[in-house]
Amino acid sequence: MLSSIFLNVIANISILCTASYIFVKLIPKEKKYTLNLQKKLIMIGIASMTNFILMLFSVNLPKEAIIDFRHIILILLVYYFGPTVSIPTAFLISVLRLLLGVNPVSIRIALMYVVLGLLLPYICSKLTKRFNQFAVLSWLNVVCVSAITLNLFFFYDDILLSSLICFSLFILSSIVVIIVTAFVEDLIKNLHLYLEIQEQAQMDYLTGLYNMRVFNKKWQTIQADKSIATTAFMMLDIDHFKWINDTYGHANGNFILRQLAVILQVGAPDNELIYRVGGEEFCIILNNLPYVEQKKTAEKIRASVASKEFLLENGAGIYITVSIGLAASTQKKDMKKLFRLADRCLYMAKDQGRNKVIGATMENE
Ligand code: GH3
Ligand code: MG
Ligand code: MG
Repeated sequence: MLSSIFLNVIANISILCTASYIFVKLIPKEKKYTLNLQKKLIMIGIASMTNFILMLFSVNLPKEAIIDFRHIILILLVYYFGPTVSIPTAFLISVLRLLLGVNPVSIRIALMYVVLGLLLPYICSKLTKRFNQFAVLSWLNVVCVSAITLNLFFFYDDILLSSLICFSLFILSSIVVIIVTAFVEDLIKNLHLYLEIQEQAQMDYLTGLYNMRVFNKKWQTIQADKSIATTAFMMLDIDHFKWINDTYGHANGNFILRQLAVILQVGAPDNELIYRVGGEEFCIILNNLPYVEQKKTAEKIRASVASKEFLLENGAGIYITVSIGLAASTQKKDMKKLFRLADRCLYMAKDQGRNKVIGATMENE
């Protein structure tokens, strides 16, 4: 009996860890991760299947009573993925149980899972406000084990025996919850680490804008994207920035770069398409905008930089200007040529006295 319980516990831990691994893999590798409907359905399917497999590894007790660790899958879903995943899973588990045969035992267990499915998210939301993760998971475990014990009373009228089984189940179940949660936490920690490193590799630490690496990748997606008919590069370079650095110091130069990034974010139509491509050079991609609008956007940004008072670290204010080269494609999207044209336009803007926007369309080249 004891060795069978031990083997069942090991099997349950392995099955739960495998399912948890798949769940964490389903979390999108994005900062603001929300599960889409498709991923939620996959999760519900896998959770129900896992629940079914766990049933095969339940511990048989005298009088055909069984105890198992199926409730842990529900606890994990409630705690990590919320009611939109856990409630449908609880219903599916109940239906699956009834499909195996409708009898008083299966009806009782199916009902128990429906009640737990509805009750656990509510309890979890109340507990998370007051307790830490371990306490919340332990309390959810207590609720589930209590429900299972209530079921056991139907098999054994003996309160003492039922309580003894309940106590053993609680201890074992707590051990399984701790091990599986530690596993899930480790996976989630790795996911966060991955996201952090990914962000560091894509972001310019000074301005918080995307860097050249992301800019290059974006080229390829824009070129392949049929929904983007026209695109334009706006290359922007601060005028006499070397002088600003030499006069006010490098730290003030950095401070100005940060303030300029904010102006670009306000002026650009899409914040996701602003890149710091050099020391004091920025590129803004404008998709599906008529050439007149592209020029207006560039002119608006140039004017807002020229009229804004930039702060220095000592609180004093200075004015700076930028030159902008705008290159637009109206028919074909040859990104390399577009980039070169924007660069040429920028050079012309500098040559013509700075604080200027010079634009050209690729088809006129
Ligand atoms: P122009 O009007 O012709 O653009 O003149 P400029 O002085 O701005 O010339 P250029 O664009 O060649 O100068 C770039 C300067 O930008 C040189 C360097 O000192 C400064 N720079 C580059 N990266 C950074 C940075 O991260 N922080 C600061 N503070 N300065 C930078
Ligand atoms: Mg430059
Ligand atoms: Mg410059």
